[in-house]
Amino acid sequence: MRVEGRIKAAVIKLTSCSGCQLQILNAEDEILEVTKRVDFTHFLELSSDVRSGPYDIAFVEGAVTTPEEVELVRSVRGSSKYVVALGACATAGGIQALRNLASTEEFKKIVYPHPEWIKTLDKVSPISEFVRVDYELRGCPVSKDRVIDFITQILAGKKPYFRREPLCMECKRKGNICVLIAKGIPCLGPVTQEGCGALCPTYGRGCYGCFGPAKDPKPEELVKALVRRSGLSKDGAVERFKYFTAWAKPFRKVVGGE
Ligand code: SF4
Ligand code: SF4
Repeated sequence: MRVEGRIKAAVIKLTSCSGCQLQILNAEDEILEVTKRVDFTHFLELSSDVRSGPYDIAFVEGAVTTPEEVELVRSVRGSSKYVVALGACATAGGIQALRNLASTEEFKKIVYPHPEWIKTLDKVSPISEFVRVDYELRGCPVSKDRVIDFITQILAGKKPYFRREPLCMECKRKGNICVLIAKGIPCLGPVTQEGCGALCPTYGRGCYGCFGPAKDPKPEELVKALVRRSGLSKDGAVERFKYFTAWAKPFRKVVGGE
């Protein structure tokens, strides 16, 4: 059923580069239309006029890396009808979760003159490891069209739906020549969720997996295929997974996380 009247939305930042919330502001052609129905009552990148919940939708950007962020994301969950994980950091831990593959204590010693002042969790985590997440909008950064589409579907009273096919399907629909088969370029498209418009393969590069695992991916099989097709060593093929969504559960095992 169509949602009547205005709804309240929040955009909450955890550990992130703010690139995903910037994508919402980048939707210049649509955002004014959206704000006729949506009050962004907490969106610091938009306005310093911040009001507390409850919210109809809380978009949460960023990974959980500190005890304060655990409290924050739990409190946002408690005051929101829908919690939406926004982008690779919130859905998979993001690039900063690569530190989970080594010792946080060692990194602290190398980077900071006073490591004892740094209060951080031992592991970087997606928000779903602490709270129930209603929807995930993937990508690094998230696609602004998907955010607008998501809000439009909510306002229309629909249960938001997005395809979760592997990127190869999107790539083929665009008529691209496969860079893995034709040129031996390593590509994560067979195990990555579509949604970016097959941007990298369209420009002759292999996919880096920004949108995270597709439904039922078989990353171990892709490692074998990358060795066969692109001439990488097994370690080289595994390295290919160590980018934006390496800590997503189906990829975590491949990169030696758990
Ligand atoms: S997902 Fe990428 S663009 Fe979005 S906040 Fe994280 S690092 Fe930035
Ligand atoms: S280029 Fe990559 S995404 Fe496109 S069909 Fe080939 S393996 Fe799949």
